[in-house]
This record gives sequence, structure tokens and C-alpha cells, in this order.
Amino acid sequence: MQTAPQGTRQAETPVDQVEEARLEALDRLDVLDTPPEPEFDRIARLIKNIFGVNIAIVSMIDAHRQWYKACVGMPVSEVPRKDTFCTLTVREAVPIISTDTTVDPRFSANPHVVGEPYVRFYAGMPLKTSDGYVVGTLCAIDDKPRDFGPSDIEIMSDLADIVMAEIELRRMAGTDILTGTLSRRAFKDDGATAVALSLRHQNNLSCIAVDLDHFKQINDTYGHAAGDKVLVAAAGAIKESLRQSDRIARIGGEEFAVLLPHTSRAAALEVAEKLRANVEAAVIDIGTRKVGVTASFGVASLDIATKDMDTLLAHADAALYEAKSSGRNRCVGWRSQQPEMSVRRRVLKAGRVEFNGRQSTIDCTVRSLSEVGAGIAVSSTVGIPKDFILGIPADGFEKKCHVTSRTERQLEVEFR
Ligand code: GH3
Ligand code: MG
Ligand code: MG
Repeated sequence: MQTAPQGTRQAETPVDQVEEARLEALDRLDVLDTPPEPEFDRIARLIKNIFGVNIAIVSMIDAHRQWYKACVGMPVSEVPRKDTFCTLTVREAVPIISTDTTVDPRFSANPHVVGEPYVRFYAGMPLKTSDGYVVGTLCAIDDKPRDFGPSDIEIMSDLADIVMAEIELRRMAGTDILTGTLSRRAFKDDGATAVALSLRHQNNLSCIAVDLDHFKQINDTYGHAAGDKVLVAAAGAIKESLRQSDRIARIGGEEFAVLLPHTSRAAALEVAEKLRANVEAAVIDIGTRKVGVTASFGVASLDIATKDMDTLLAHADAALYEAKSSGRNRCVGWRSQQPEMSVRRRVLKAGRVEFNGRQSTIDCTVRSLSEVGAGIAVSSTVGIPKDFILGIPADGFEKKCHVTSRTERQLEVEFR
């Protein structure tokens, strides 16, 4: 994408590099895949009611998808980025208004115009970070053409500013309000300090990545409020067995990370096993009944090839996905057979999964990369075969891949 800081296009900066910087800015916000929140739902409702449109969306534009933080009038929470109107809003970094899409050369051939849901009106406002990156859009959509004047654009622009102020406020918080654990940002800050200290004094340092198993089912069966209680209880069960010097953070919706200073890989695996047992044993009162939950754990430690917080987390994460795909409710340690080659860098790159003799293509986000493998996020792994080609067009990168583990939206692959 060609969005650049301050909303200007930098002719001298290659498009893909700017897109990479934009994805990093989005990542820093820690907003992707967070649950719905009333502040943002309210803004979507305001747009719907003020303009009388069918659909209103607060969205973030990831490498492979448009993800909805809030949405009224559509039943889904994300769509593939390809063909979305908002891609243009992000690229141009200015409000994009189409009062009748059927006569608008930018959109008249778009599949969402010629087919379902027959979009006729689109107003998209870029959501810009304070350092100038367009990370998402605020949009109003309708199935009938309509006018949209300067005062309408002003209202949308004010609402876009409110959305970004809310998102940036959340990011600055040091503690997660729901669970009382550290925020992701605070964890990374603390982690960087811990890594520097461990390297200087040659002490062990380990990290455990935790993800609750089938948590969506808990929300779907008992409701979001019950899901919140389970999250609080799971965080409590993990904290129970930690030492004073350990750090625990909520780094995603139902994902936690634990940092264990002065702890070797073997000792960290033992700790993880204790945490796993604590979570499994917890009896959680959700009001109407008592429920249980399990979690999967990935463990990694600083070593010759793992010398920074991002790599440490990437390794713990890769091990976590192995724990998921090998049955969940278990602990797996990151194993690097060829340390120098298999060390994973945490990256954010727009990629492509190709199979069926390149007849089938699915957009993806490459989240970690080494010389021998990668971690990939997709909207859905359904239908992706065990062997495929992974491309990162920006880097001219292409490799044959074999899937070593998969969950609904994540793939771990090794290169062939
Ligand atoms: P897996 O075992 O593969 O991890 O399955 P899963 O269902 O846990 O994984 P997935 O990532 O598909 O679902 C996570 C769900 O967690 C989706 C999201 O709605 C929910 N969630 C995220 N944050 C919160 C929260 O703060 N409260 C509640 N109640 N739900 C949340
Ligand atoms: Mg998860
Ligand atoms: Mg989960």
C-alpha cells in the first residue's frame, strides 16, 4: 500500500516498505482481534443513525484482511482485504466518497457492486495514527445512492479522530483492566529490560506463551460476560504459581505471556506444566453454572540464537501453535535443531498462499520467518492443503512449504 506518514505519498520510498511500516504501526496499536467494546459500537451506531445508512464499520486494514473492531449491519467480523473499498481509502489516505458506485469508475466493476451486497453508496474516512499512518477506516455503506456533503465529511472526520484517540489511549495503559495483568506494551517494555539484564549477567530467561483452548465456544455457549469471567479466572490460576519476579501480561484477547527471569528452559517447562494444571483444575463460577477451561503453552528461552524479546516471543508462539495442533491442553518447548538457521524473526509481511497449480490464491500475513520455516496467519485455514507455495511479493520471496501444524487461522510451515 502506498500510505505514508502525514498522509503524503513518498515517491522515493518503495510502496512495499511503506506498507511494512504501516503494518508495524498497526501492530503497535494492539487492537487486532480484540473483542467488541461499547465505545466503538457506539460510533458505528452513530454513523448508521446520523446518515441513515445500512452498514457502518470501524475497521483495521491488516495485510490479508479487513478486520472490524465495530460493525452494524453486517454479520461478519472480518473479510479478505482483496476487493474491499477501504483498500483505496488506505492507499489514498484521504476520505473516499462514492455517491453512486455504479457510475463511479473506481468501483463500478467491484464484485460487491455488481453482486451481493450491491453496494451503491460508500464513504470511507482514513483512521490515522498520531505519527501519520493510515491503519484503518471508518465507513458508511448503503444499498442506495445518496449525497454526502462537506458537513457530512466533517462529522465523519470528527468521529474518526475520536476512534483513534480511544485506540491510542488503550494502548498507553500499563495494566489490562479486566484481568489486572500487565498490558502488552508494558510487558514488552519490561521484557526488553529483562533481556538486556540477562544478556549482561549471563542469566537464564524464559518466556511462556499461553492461549486458552476453544475459548470462542465458551463465548458462543454462555455469552461474552461469562467469557470474561473465565478469562479473569484463568489469569488468576496462572498467577497462583508465579514468583514475585515473574511477569504476566495479557497480550491478546485470550492470550497471555509469562516472563520468567533466572529460569532455564527445562525449569520453565516445569513451570508451564504447573500453570497448565492450575488452569485445568480451576472451577469457574459464571453465575448460572460452573465451568472449566484448558490452555495450551509454548515455552522458549534466551540462547545463542535467541537474543531479543521479539524472537523470544516468536519462538514461544511457534511452540504454542505446535501445542495447539498436537491436541491442546499441553506444554511444548521451542526446539531449534539448527539454531542459526531456524531462529525465527518476528516479521509482518503481506504474503500469498498458492496451490492447485497456482489456480488458488489466499492472502496471508507472514508473522515469523526463519531460513527453514514460517508462521502464517490467514482468515481461515480450511481448504489449504499440506503442501503449497508461499510468496512474499515485496521481497521477491517464494518457497515450497509443508504444513507442520495448523489451527483455524494459523499455519506453521517448514520450507522444502
Ligand atoms: P483455539 O483453541 O484454537 O485457541 O480456539 P479459540 O476458540 O480459543 O481461538 P480463537 O482465536 O478463534 O478465538 C478466540 C476468541 O476469544 C474470539 C474472541 O471473540 C474471544 N475474545 C477475545 N477477547 C475476549 C474478551 O476480552 N472477552 C471475551 N469474552 N472474549 C474474548
Ligand atoms: Mg487466540
Ligand atoms: Mg484460543
